Amino acid sequence: MAETRYEARGNGRPTRWSGARGGSGGGVGGGGPAGNGGTGGNGSGEPRTVFSNVRILDATGEPPYAGEVTVVANRIAAIQRTGGAYGSGPGGGLGVTLGGGMSGTNGDVRRIDGRGMTLMPGLIDAHLHLSWNNAPGINPIQMMPVEEHMLNCVYMAKLLIDAGFTAGYGAAAAKERLDVVIRDAIRAGKVPGPRYTAAGPELTALGGLGDASLPHIPHEGLNLGIVISGPEEMRRAVRRLMKWGVDTVKINLSGEEITGMGAEENQFTDEEIRVAVEEAKGRNRRLAAHARSNESIRRCVKFGIDNIYHASFCDEETLDLLEANKDKHFVAPGLAWLINTARNAAEYGIKPGTPITEAYERELEHAIDSMQRMHKRGIRVLIGGDYGFAWTPHGTNAKDLEYFVEMIGMSPMEAIQAGTKYGGQIMGMGHELGLIKEGYLADLLLVEGDPLADVRVLQDKRRLVGIMQDGKFHKDPAMQPAGAHAYA
Ligand SMILES: [Zn+2]
Repeated sequence: MAETRYEARGNGRPTRWSGARGGSGGGVGGGGPAGNGGTGGNGSGEPRTVFSNVRILDATGEPPYAGEVTVVANRIAAIQRTGGAYGSGPGGGLGVTLGGGMSGTNGDVRRIDGRGMTLMPGLIDAHLHLSWNNAPGINPIQMMPVEEHMLNCVYMAKLLIDAGFTAGYGAAAAKERLDVVIRDAIRAGKVPGPRYTAAGPELTALGGLGDASLPHIPHEGLNLGIVISGPEEMRRAVRRLMKWGVDTVKINLSGEEITGMGAEENQFTDEEIRVAVEEAKGRNRRLAAHARSNESIRRCVKFGIDNIYHASFCDEETLDLLEANKDKHFVAPGLAWLINTARNAAEYGIKPGTPITEAYERELEHAIDSMQRMHKRGIRVLIGGDYGFAWTPHGTNAKDLEYFVEMIGMSPMEAIQAGTKYGGQIMGMGHELGLIKEGYLADLLLVEGDPLADVRVLQDKRRLVGIMQDGKFHKDPAMQPAGAHAYA
């Protein structure tokens, strides 16, 4: 466990979450579960937080149970079941004491009486763009100068963690180093934000999705993507992004209605894709694809592109292929983008009833059908809605859970797993992130209410009474105005 690290790509560089921090010798994972018995001291002097009297929703799929969770340093050290059942309502004020009742412990100990609140893993967004800036369209994202853009990423990162997202998978950046820099700043503890994997700009073909340059202004700065043509240009672009430090190479295999390239149009030759995969895998990087069309999804399976974003148009044969390879791929449909672009962007000039919104309505219908069928086949379908536009602003990402329940027909537990357990897996950290389990990283939400009764409680930031990341509170329960009664 001492060797476990945050990064998916495993290049050996120490990180804030690698166990190298503060000389703690790998945290509690270093020698197996520490602190057996939950409240006994381990004499290590490491900070402890004990959540008692909580309803533990561990995201394994097991029904919640009453108990106590002990966090030592940055990991979950012990889970004790205390029996008894909890309702979803608050039982009274929130109790927090410092060092009370703890003996034989050298370090700081905080006891937090959850009074029956839900303790669950932090949410994880599988398709996150921290450089999308909540602007009305792709153009204003691309036109933002890099200095403002970098600061904007810092702001977006805070919106995410404020909303309970303690991790997110970077699905493409608007400029080459934005993701890398924000990832590293978050990891170093300089700014608050979700644990993040960095991508570069989307790689796209000449004239494809992300090529916005004009005949008389053939400047690459106008493009959201990196526009390439031919295997050698692909090779060079992938190598350059890896030089900057990306974890993921994102390539656009299909179109996007709003850009003028249809969702069911395809781009790139097999040879170009093969080169991207060869280069990225050679350096232990992951690949992700914008893949809306049936053909583009098949190519993800054929070439081993790990993350399939969108996957709206799927025929039976493609579903068979995906199912046969379900342990190798993650699907994140990005429903929020489809739904809200089709229905809720009128004030930004995208009016329902026009050809563009009709195209999105049609795609949404296909996407819902595809996701229902994928889910039934056990293919991992994850939350992450391509948030970051004016009509899908960052900070509202938990809406995806509601969409998954309402539209895909997932149970609330399944939707929560799509945003926790499988999120840990897509981060490349399934062995230590996304569940409440001994030895796992302490990314936890203390929630007022019962997300299994209604997943929408997770959209209400006032109900997120505590947000812990890596064993530290980003949002401290003791600092909330009315404790357990912070909402009406
Ligand atoms: Zn996206």
